[in-house]
Amino acid sequence: MKKILIKIRTSMKFFILVSIATFIIVALVAFLYKPVYSVTLNEENIGYSADKSKLQARIDDYIENGDGENSYVAFVQVDNMPTYSLCLLKRGIIPNDDEIFEKVAETGVPYYKYYAISEDDEEKFYVADFSTAENVVQGLKDKDSSNIDNISITEKYETNVENFVQAEEAVAGLYKEKVKEPVQTTKVASTKSSKKVASSGSSSSFSMASNMSKSPVSLGISLIKPVTGTITSRFGSVSRIRSSAHTGLDIGSPSGTGVKAAASGTVVWAGYKGSLGNLVVISHSNGVQTYYGHCSKIYVSAGQSVSQGQIISAVGSTGNSTGPHLHFEIRVNGVAYNPQNYVY
Ligand SMILES: [Zn+2]
Repeated sequence: MKKILIKIRTSMKFFILVSIATFIIVALVAFLYKPVYSVTLNEENIGYSADKSKLQARIDDYIENGDGENSYVAFVQVDNMPTYSLCLLKRGIIPNDDEIFEKVAETGVPYYKYYAISEDDEEKFYVADFSTAENVVQGLKDKDSSNIDNISITEKYETNVENFVQAEEAVAGLYKEKVKEPVQTTKVASTKSSKKVASSGSSSSFSMASNMSKSPVSLGISLIKPVTGTITSRFGSVSRIRSSAHTGLDIGSPSGTGVKAAASGTVVWAGYKGSLGNLVVISHSNGVQTYYGHCSKIYVSAGQSVSQGQIISAVGSTGNSTGPHLHFEIRVNGVAYNPQNYVY
């Protein structure tokens, strides 16, 4: 009996001793170290952050808006995002959020958004915003310029900026007086425009150009709704976050919701693309293409055939977006049409 009591007493002593030791170690660690995030970029440690969400918000803002030095920045492409892992850092070593931000920003490539005004598909003038581009077209119309049907506006996302001109300068440079030989001019013009449609209708390519038409055409295929939800922005609407009219339809839906292919076809783009973030473009028959923007995840790859209703991506808020939604576009030979004339 006594032996057992002694045994219990010894193990109790041992237990208390271990507890005290553990407490001292924990207290020592807490005193000497503090929890911070170790930040890794391209498999290399680039520093420590005390406030991970604040740092990431600053990086996100930089990607969306640039450093504010140039107002034409549409977004900044950063190939790799930093990763964070919780660790203990010796007190006295100071977290360097500013330096981390600079290191991430160094790898960023700003993309500028502006508009090209082309004559016969050749870029002639560049303007800073869509309304100026529209003024150029209107100016040429007002002056009854003979080349008005061959003038087009293209939205540009480039890593370099061009020299921008004012509307008057572009109108003066593009204006062509009408020559009186009606039969011949019409013929030439019609051959040209039919050629244009054929080249832009090739199914292996797609464009980010913002040509849009408000009068519907027959698609020759039937489409289904890629997602169900509330329409948050209609086709043709103008908003603060966009400098030009909306070429698609925005459908609000929770992040992660499966996005269905509106019709069967071939994926021609599956990846990050400018302000549309993670984008899937599907080519269908008759020159019809559908665009699915701002996705959080993409489940298909370019060249892949998809069937109608197949889940191709997940709803997200990548690119120029203020909340999870699907940006859905219908284009025929590069011209955007109102999705609400076909679905929704
Ligand atoms: Zn949209």
